[in-house]
Amino acid sequence: MRQRSRAVESRTAGELTGATGTARSSGVPRVTVVGSLNTDISLAVPHLPGPGETVLSPAGADIGAGGKGANQAVAAARLGAAVRMVGCCGDDEFGTGLRAGLAAEGVDAGGVRVVTGAASGLALITVDAAGENAIAVAAGANGLAGPDEVAAAFAAPCEALVVSAEIPAVVLAGVLSRARQAGTTCVLNLAPAPDGAAGLLAGGVDWLVVNEQEAAAVLGRPLAGPEEAPAAASALARMGAGNVVITLGAAGAVLARAPGAPGREMAGAPGAPGADVPGAPGAPGPDVAGAAGATGAVAVPGFTVSSVDSVGAGDAFVAALAVALAAGVGPADAVRAACAAGAAATTRRGAQAALPRPADVLAATGAPWPLAGR
Ligand code: ADP
Repeated sequence: MRQRSRAVESRTAGELTGATGTARSSGVPRVTVVGSLNTDISLAVPHLPGPGETVLSPAGADIGAGGKGANQAVAAARLGAAVRMVGCCGDDEFGTGLRAGLAAEGVDAGGVRVVTGAASGLALITVDAAGENAIAVAAGANGLAGPDEVAAAFAAPCEALVVSAEIPAVVLAGVLSRARQAGTTCVLNLAPAPDGAAGLLAGGVDWLVVNEQEAAAVLGRPLAGPEEAPAAASALARMGAGNVVITLGAAGAVLARAPGAPGREMAGAPGAPGADVPGAPGAPGPDVAGAAGATGAVAVPGFTVSSVDSVGAGDAFVAALAVALAAGVGPADAVRAACAAGAAATTRRGAQAALPRPADVLAATGAPWPLAGR
């Protein structure tokens, strides 16, 4: 993890309200999102079709914008950032709709390259009566992202970059490399975890966000369960990430920081007593956010909300984390804010439809956005 200086290293989220960063005149944090754009076509079916079977959907098709990159861009815009999206779509009607959809959300889609002759990314989703789904995805133009997108990611200044993994790994590597050179805060969301993920981390990245399955894929071994997440996050930090977040659904997240990672340190020294995750076996005391456990990882408990659908929670989390970091919020507070946004996203159905605005975060969790420092 390379060290570097920053004009604004760490503020509490409470200080954010009146923030006027030195790098920008408006006070609005700027976030660039590099990733995929898809059209999601969802069909509710009584049961998932088997081989050769046709199943009728009484409700008809639900067609909406998706893709991790576009979802994260929309989420960041709804949470108050000035967002640029970088990615690829085809020169088809879907692509036109995807770019128009971003613009309607206030996202600058100027970094979305229209690839002549290519089809836009498409996800075909069937969901049965029990909520089980079967999904087929055509990457389409997303798979054609390359050096142009790396260049586009750095064509305008920003306080934080977000890059997710539904685009070729060579783009991720290029963005991480340029971000290190430029000293730009970068949040890498390895969803899905690509082959060679360990090599990507080895060069160094400020922030890695993964869920448990993705953490296991990057580590190359299964996790025993959430109780192993703190140790897994610490292991990922040793692989080259300055800050590692493993998201744990309703249980929240764990944050591990490499020694010397920039930003305000977490409360509690590594090795201090305290459980790493709620309910960890043999935990010496109740979980306390901000108390680092034996692994050096800190548990950030989830918010208790009325969840109806977890689709979009991960994207809301990643976007919220980036917005908070871009605004100068310290690491642990930024993860708490991200947990609130992720929780709020679970209180509504759908992907982009569920991505929360500040009022939604407050209504669902009681946590103001930006989240006041603890
Ligand atoms: P992914 O969808 O990428 O697997 P998670 O399910 O871990 O990601 O969710 C991301 C974040 O959203 C979690 O870290 C948590 O903060 C929040 N979250 C997800 N599900 C719930 C839930 N049922 N209740 C409260 N918060 C949730």
